[in-house]
Amino acid sequence: MSGITVTLPDGSPLELPEGASGADAAAAIGPRLAKDALGVKVDGELRDLAAPLPDGAAIAIVTPTSEGDDADDALWLIRHDAAHVMATAVVELWPGTKVSIGPPIADGFYYDFEFPDGERPSEADLERIEAAMRAHIDADEPFERSELPVAEAVERFRDAGEPYKVELIEDLERDQGAETVSLYRNGPFTDLCRGPHSPSTSRIGAFKLNSIAGAYWRGDESRQMLTRIYGTAFHRQADLDRHLEQLERARESDHRRLGPELDLFRFREEAPGMPFWLPQGTVLLELIEREVREQLGKRGYREIRTPEVLDEELWHRSGHWDNYRENMYFVEPSQREGDQRRFALKPMNCPGACLVFGSERHSYRDLPLRLAEFGKVFRYEREGVLHGLLRVRAFTQDDAHVYCTLEQVPAEVDSICSAIDELYARFGFDEVQVELSTRPEKSVGTDEQWARAEGGLREALERQGRDYEVSPGEGTFYGPKIDFHVTDALGRSWQLGTCQLDFQMPERFELAYQGEDNAEHRPVMIHRALLGSMERFAGILIEHHGGRFPAWLAPTQAAILPVSDPHVGYARAVAARLGAAGVRNRVDERAESVGRKVRDAELAKVPLMLVLGEREEAEGTVSVRSHTDGDLGAMDPDRVPELLEAGRRD
Ligand SMILES: [Zn+2]
Ligand SMILES: [Zn+2]
Repeated sequence: MSGITVTLPDGSPLELPEGASGADAAAAIGPRLAKDALGVKVDGELRDLAAPLPDGAAIAIVTPTSEGDDADDALWLIRHDAAHVMATAVVELWPGTKVSIGPPIADGFYYDFEFPDGERPSEADLERIEAAMRAHIDADEPFERSELPVAEAVERFRDAGEPYKVELIEDLERDQGAETVSLYRNGPFTDLCRGPHSPSTSRIGAFKLNSIAGAYWRGDESRQMLTRIYGTAFHRQADLDRHLEQLERARESDHRRLGPELDLFRFREEAPGMPFWLPQGTVLLELIEREVREQLGKRGYREIRTPEVLDEELWHRSGHWDNYRENMYFVEPSQREGDQRRFALKPMNCPGACLVFGSERHSYRDLPLRLAEFGKVFRYEREGVLHGLLRVRAFTQDDAHVYCTLEQVPAEVDSICSAIDELYARFGFDEVQVELSTRPEKSVGTDEQWARAEGGLREALERQGRDYEVSPGEGTFYGPKIDFHVTDALGRSWQLGTCQLDFQMPERFELAYQGEDNAEHRPVMIHRALLGSMERFAGILIEHHGGRFPAWLAPTQAAILPVSDPHVGYARAVAARLGAAGVRNRVDERAESVGRKVRDAELAKVPLMLVLGEREEAEGTVSVRSHTDGDLGAMDPDRVPELLEAGRRD
């Protein structure tokens, strides 16, 4: 009898009869595995358990307790299952609904539907859909795969009134030369689907539908608007609960909600994607800037400021015209002077810095020349991608450009990495992930320049003994880069700083310095930002702290709350004294009860509340209530600064 041999993850061989499937392999290993199996990895590729295994393949059975990549695959399978089951339920509840696509995504799954005229579910209907899904899950309906010739499949979905499926099949035929397509059936529902799926609907452990949104068919604004329903699924209820809890925490710390609530910033229709910073938020930005400036001072940077509106010709010279034009704002100059020149708002600070460097003669003794700029830049992002402070159209980069020799690059990169470590730790981000990105498809410069640039960055990272990941093809168009990421309190990763090498721009701007040999040489240019965008970083900080900043970073550190009108005079005197000691404070002079004032200060997340009434005024004290430590009793106002300093600096 002929058979096949496959290799298990531990390297041991497993003999199976010809035509054996992943399910057969699991059963041959043990009954427990056969019961738990969701899918099978065949030479690294996830497949249906029912698919026959090729001879010689390396296989791994995927189960709810798989680890690493296989764990992701296990979740992917049941989320894909859940998307199909959701479509089953929706079509049942709203007959005549047309289905389009329903993939698993990072944290769950969605499915896009076109509901019959005049009908559209609301969030209130989600429970009803969940109940219908649960019935199909309890019924333990198997996922059955079949293959159909393209023509037959088109006919089938056309008859069923499913135009989106017909379009998908026709595209598969045209773009990929598909001759057959696969369908998956579960219970009453059959979907065009590449698979794979788990063996049956009962494998979806715990699930929840989250929200409803609009989505254009194929993401194309000129096409049909569909209704997208989002959900998620986990193997165990406890995992789902934890996930939902985290979503709730993320909702509570959403900076788009906290910004207006804490009087930090607002967005207005008059300038989409451009924040208006309110006084509290402006203080926050200044405090962040202060920390960046401390790094600049320590590391030999000098600060410059360059214009925001520059001649269009400059953007031709810099290469932005060719590579970045669709993201730029252009300015009509006043006709009064008959000025024929056209101007653009700067999307980046680099050309301005190059003009500064180029307007003076430099010797090798000036290098490295480090020019820093808190530069406001403007980028025309599509309205659909704008997202609070995280994706805006105008923002301030904590930018710098270092002009140096190739030999000086590793030391400069060292210094930039140290600045980043110190700065991030200061804001409560202790773990920094480093990513080296190499040459993208769309790029300027020669092979040799790219090889040297990438080599310089690698050398610096390796000298520091840093762990780093390489992202091939993710560099900028002018050079390779190192990106720095942090993980926030909710476990999300954010890219902040960047350090980019550039041989190209000094070339384009014909920058030069006089060498020891008296000859002219081209400097190398490093673009670097520590926090990236000040606005975006503020948004990340707001979410990281849930709006409750550590005392040193709180825009208002102490709220002074007189119990009643007669004590306002004393309150003002205390405020002046604290102000002189550098404590950012405000007096609540409203004719409200002290209980109300305390509640409002708590909602505003002010670290310290200083209550003062008759006794405090008579004794020259304040009654201190700390957000973190509760009532601290009455004390001399001069002790307040030290309360705030606790946890300030090492
Ligand atoms: Zn599918
Ligand atoms: Zn730059």
